[in-house]
Amino acid sequence: MRRFLRKDLVIKDEVSTEYEVSKILFHNQDKTVFFEKLRGYPEFKMVGNLVPSRERMCDALGTTKNGFIAHVSNALKNPVEPVVVEDMRATIEKKSLDDLPIPKYFEKDAGNYITSGIVIAEDEELGRNVSVHRMQVISKRRFAIRLVERHLYEYYKKAEEGDRPLEVAVALGVHPAVMFASSYSVPAGYDEFKLASSLLGRALEIARCETVDLYVPAESEIVIEGRILPYERVDEGPFVDITGTYDAVRKQPVLEVTRIVHREDAIYHALLPSGREHKVYMGMPQEPRIFEAVSKVARPVSVCLTEGGCNWLHGVVSISKERENDGRRAIYAALEGHPSMKHVVVVDEDIDVFNPAEVEFAIATRFQGNRDIVMIENVRGSSLDPSANKTGLTTKLGLDATIPLSGRDDYVRAKIP
Ligand code: MN
Repeated sequence: MRRFLRKDLVIKDEVSTEYEVSKILFHNQDKTVFFEKLRGYPEFKMVGNLVPSRERMCDALGTTKNGFIAHVSNALKNPVEPVVVEDMRATIEKKSLDDLPIPKYFEKDAGNYITSGIVIAEDEELGRNVSVHRMQVISKRRFAIRLVERHLYEYYKKAEEGDRPLEVAVALGVHPAVMFASSYSVPAGYDEFKLASSLLGRALEIARCETVDLYVPAESEIVIEGRILPYERVDEGPFVDITGTYDAVRKQPVLEVTRIVHREDAIYHALLPSGREHKVYMGMPQEPRIFEAVSKVARPVSVCLTEGGCNWLHGVVSISKERENDGRRAIYAALEGHPSMKHVVVVDEDIDVFNPAEVEFAIATRFQGNRDIVMIENVRGSSLDPSANKTGLTTKLGLDATIPLSGRDDYVRAKIP
C-alpha cells in the first residue's frame, strides 16, 4: 500500500477515530486523506479514500478507464503464482483489538468496524480463498464477521460440519490491486492472490503467519490471525453499506483472534462505508463480468456501474448493434451477469457510458416507454436496496435506448463541417 499511497490531503491535527475520521473522509470523498495523529493511538497513522475514483483505481491496476475491462480479462486468463518470502513486515505484537485504531463511522453503527480487511482461508480441495468482509469488534479478542453466502461462507460451513473452526488471517493495508482481486468474483478454487499478482504485473510477496497455517501479503500494515468458531452466532449490525443506508442486523459467526501484529508506524486503512472508495471496490469488479455476460449475446463496447446507482444497482452498457433485438438480449444478459443490478440502460457505442448526461440524452431521444422497456417482476435482487421486498424480491427494469436499425437516418447527430 505504501508504494501506491498518495496524500491529496494531510491532516496534521490530532483526530478521533470515533466519527471524526469518518466525517473528514465523508466530506473529501474525491481525495486521499492522510491522518498523522490519532487520539489514543500514537503508534498509528491512518489513510482513507485510498482509491477515491475510477481513474485512481485504473492507475493502481496499471490501466486506463477505457482499457480497464480488457486489462482485467487478460489478467484473469493469465494468473501469476505469488512468491513466498521469509519475513512478514508486521512484527509488533498487540494483545487486544482495543490497541488498534478501528474506527466508528456512522451514528447508528453497532460498533467499531474493520472495513478494509482481506480475509484469507484455505480449503483442502479448493485451496486458498481471499475475500473482503466487514468485521464488528465485539470484545478485546473477538469479531462478528459478516459472511455473505459465497466462498468463505462455504469454507466455513464445511469446517463447521466437520466440527472444527476455520483458520483465517486478516490483512489490512494492502496494495489496491490486492484489494481489487479480493473483491473480484472469480470462480471457487481460483486463488485471488494469483489474480492480484497478474494485475500487479509481478508475483505478490506473501509470508507465513504464526498461529495459523496461512499466508498474507508480506507488506501488510496490520495482520490479525484467528479462527471462525463453529456453531456460534451473534448479532452483527446495524451497519452502513454501499447505499448509505443501514443494513439489517443478522446472526453471524464469531472470529476469535489468536494474534495481532502491525508494522512500525503502521498506516491503518479506513474504508468509509458508502464512500466513493467503497463503491469503486464493490462496483468496478462487476463491470468485466457484465461485459463477459453481454458478449455471449451481443457485441458490448463498454460497461459502467454508475455513481448515482451506488456503483451497484444501476448499470449502463454500450453495444455495437448488429441485430434489431441486440438491445433486449443485452439487457437480459447484463442483469444475469450482475444479479444485484436493478436497472440497466443499453446504449449505442457513440454514447459515453461514463457520462450521465450522454446516457440521459440517449434515453431522451432514442427510447420509447411502450416499446423499449423490459420489466421482470418478483426476482431476486440486491439485499442492500431498501426499496426491495423484505423477502429479497425486486422488480428489474431494462431500457433499450439504442437506435432502431431501421430508420437510423432520423437519429443522426448533426455535425459542423
Ligand atoms: Mn473466491
